[in-house]
Amino acid sequence: MPWARRKLSMLMAVRGAGVTDLNTLNALEATDRSIFVPSHLAERAYEVTTLPIGFGQTLSSPDVVGLMTQALGLKKSDRVLEIGTGSGYQTLILSKLCKEVFTIERHEPLSQIAQRRLDKIGVNNVHYTFGDGFEGLPDQAPFDAILITAAPDKVPSKLATQMAEDSRLVLPIGPQGQAQRLIRVTRKGSRFYESDLGPVRFVPMLSGVAQESMDSN
Ligand code: SAH
Repeated sequence: MPWARRKLSMLMAVRGAGVTDLNTLNALEATDRSIFVPSHLAERAYEVTTLPIGFGQTLSSPDVVGLMTQALGLKKSDRVLEIGTGSGYQTLILSKLCKEVFTIERHEPLSQIAQRRLDKIGVNNVHYTFGDGFEGLPDQAPFDAILITAAPDKVPSKLATQMAEDSRLVLPIGPQGQAQRLIRVTRKGSRFYESDLGPVRFVPMLSGVAQESMDSN
């Protein structure tokens, strides 16, 4: 099947999953997903599924990327914190819809590869940190939106304190392999409101940074 057809059928599936926000759909349409997967999987880049990216991690499925992005309700002036850079795919989508993205990854090689990829295509509003996302980035806080692309057991408290007064935090919550829910926390003044956006499946959010070994990828 030609690439344009594959992309179109991916976009139809993303819309079918409930993504109606035009900015989000346009960003997904304008993004070449094949550069984010290992070359032997490039053929499968537009499948609506997660794909392995090494180090036991996965590229998020495009429907879930769409739903999470839409749930953030981004404005062009927003400063966004992303936890779990992974391949950099979600990072790129965010970068198209806001002013600046600060992204944290606990696997140093993944952080470096994602940065190289996005540098190569001229993305210049993303800041990369190799570190533990549970800490957030207190020096850069507060953020207008925070996205976590790995699942903790509950809302990480330090990240909640880095939310601006009128901001959104979107994250999967729950143990790996069991029922996880996509949650949006909205901060209004000093109050926090939670809504449940449905079931999802994510790799776990782990604390500390990964110690890489020769066989870890
Ligand atoms: N959005 C990414 C998804 C990657 S999977 C993509 O589409 O490619 C989730 C990522 O979160 C993994 O790369 C994993 O290493 C990272 N991660 C898990 N716990 C983390 C933590 N505490 N801090 C930073 N990154 C973390």
